[in-house]
Amino acid sequence: MTPGEPPIHPSCPTCGKVLDGSNDPRDRPFCSTRCRLLDLWGWFSERHRIPVEQEPASPDDGARAPDGPENPWSDRPD
Ligand SMILES: [Zn+2]
Repeated sequence: MTPGEPPIHPSCPTCGKVLDGSNDPRDRPFCSTRCRLLDLWGWFSERHRIPVEQEPASPDDGARAPDGPENPWSDRPD
């Protein structure tokens, strides 16, 4: 096991191309604007693919009244 050293030649997360430092610094850590946008779009579409409607429905929530007869303070007048 070696201690984590900073990578001398980072690679593009999108296409895996090794960055030699000649690319636009604004596109880092990607090799090009195209790869940067591709990664951004990938995240965007991935978020939209998450099924939000698949929430686990708890049947107890609908059956239980918020102020049932078990609560002695529910019908207390002001
Ligand atoms: Zn790339």
